[in-house]
Amino acid sequence: MTESTSTAPTGSSTLPILDHWVGGGAWPGASSRTAPVYDPARGTVAREVRLASADDVADAVATTAAAWPAWRDASISRRQAVLFSFRELLNERKDELARILTAEHGKVLADAHGEIARGLEVVEFACGLGHLTKGAYTENASTGVDVYTLRQPIGVVGVISPFNFPAMVPLWFFPIALAAGNAVVLKPSEKDPTAATWMAALLAEAGLPDGVFSVVHGDKEAVDALLEHPEVRAISFVGSTPIARYVSSTAAAHGKRVQALGGAKNHMLVLPDADLELAADAAVNAGFGSAGERCMAISVVLAVDAVADALVDKIADRMATLRTGDGLRGCDMGPLITRAHRDRVAGYIETAGADGGVVVVDGRDVDIDGDAGGFWLGPTLIDRVPTSSAVYRDEIFGPVLSVVRVAGYEDGVGIINSSPYGNGTAIFTNDGGAARRFQREVQVGMVGVNVPIPVPVAYHSFGGWKASLFGDAKAYGPQGFDFFTQEKAVTSRWLDPSHGGLNLGFPRNT
Ligand code: NAD
Repeated sequence: MTESTSTAPTGSSTLPILDHWVGGGAWPGASSRTAPVYDPARGTVAREVRLASADDVADAVATTAAAWPAWRDASISRRQAVLFSFRELLNERKDELARILTAEHGKVLADAHGEIARGLEVVEFACGLGHLTKGAYTENASTGVDVYTLRQPIGVVGVISPFNFPAMVPLWFFPIALAAGNAVVLKPSEKDPTAATWMAALLAEAGLPDGVFSVVHGDKEAVDALLEHPEVRAISFVGSTPIARYVSSTAAAHGKRVQALGGAKNHMLVLPDADLELAADAAVNAGFGSAGERCMAISVVLAVDAVADALVDKIADRMATLRTGDGLRGCDMGPLITRAHRDRVAGYIETAGADGGVVVVDGRDVDIDGDAGGFWLGPTLIDRVPTSSAVYRDEIFGPVLSVVRVAGYEDGVGIINSSPYGNGTAIFTNDGGAARRFQREVQVGMVGVNVPIPVPVAYHSFGGWKASLFGDAKAYGPQGFDFFTQEKAVTSRWLDPSHGGLNLGFPRNT
């Protein structure tokens, strides 16, 4: 649907090339640079994707900026109609999108459907835009003077997204940005870019006017061009912490509003009174779903000594039942995104023993239900991980679950609060008092109580603390709407017979 039939510019390849989407259709841009897009379950290159130059980005922004005023001035009901239609189309065609996600990211089909469902929630939230736009009105703030606030769109906004949720993360932002009356330039991950272009085509089919939504494919050059472009007024970024920090400071230095969601290291604290069967299920589901390539994955289980042996046994037993392989074959866990990433993750298993951990289940030995060329690594469990080791400290972003043994509640919370990250965390306990204390004391933005992946629903907002979020606004929900609008306060007096007279003093309310 969205691939040009041209071949790679070097002439050395006959692979299809994925174009940008600008002005309501596929657009090749002028840059001749491309990147390979892999099928991670086979290890083969499925297509090439264009990598925009700074000039390409400038052209895309100019087209998007030109389309913005008409969209800004479209009524709320017109904008809502497009969003409703997009929601219906996305729901009807979700199987097609899920297959794209599985083919390029590798996540299993059921998980791809989960990603789309959570993205659809945000579209539905954006459909209710009318409620959010309502401002405040104060009658007679001064004699005959009314004060009221409006929320207005900010212009062209840039969205830069990571590889691990090629549909859901863009959907966290663009439905709300568009509903609020902005125009959007999306720069998706170059590792799995097709979903973004597919959604752009769907928006066009839903009736979004040409030019209001652009997709520019690319790498650092395209990101930098967006961060520096004077007509891009706001940046929503999701990715690793070092890049989030860079994006946040660069966008701010160029006078932009910015929200930059970064990496994570999420802990699950299991107290002795927890339901251990529930906790073991949760650790496996949240540790190995999407091969651990989730910013809300549980990567560390903090097991209180009294139950640690039993919990490790239960987790290992469950892991033995998991099937790793091709996402289209009903497996539990798919491949990693690239060979380089697979090898990096495997490197942590290699050094875990020397660092003081005990490898209980080694994912390098796994039997695969899939093509031998895929980027495979099975679920891995490392017990007794010291908090000084690289396995503990680094965001591994793969199917490696660490167990850190702790003396009790205080010890566990102390470890969580010492982490530079603060995205998600969970406590497993049957003690309401302990859970309540945890939710007050833990220095993390999203907290689960007997819930391992506490991703808030679309009408709350998503975001972490500390090095997991740079900027003031979280994603979606009320904070997402605030991010994509600016408030205007109007002080208004309609003339009556008492008006007039000179007064050079600062206006004071009477
Ligand atoms: P990444 O930081 O490598 O890439 C994210 C985006 O930045 C991509 O669009 C990429 O093209 C661009 N980029 C990469 N290098 C760049 C550079 N040097 N300069 C400018 N732009 C650059 O992240 P990723 O590997 O695609 O995604 C995984 C990371 O994203 C993990 O750290 C994960 O925790 C994080 N993540 C966080 C959240 C969250 O909500 N906090 C959600 C999803 C993913």
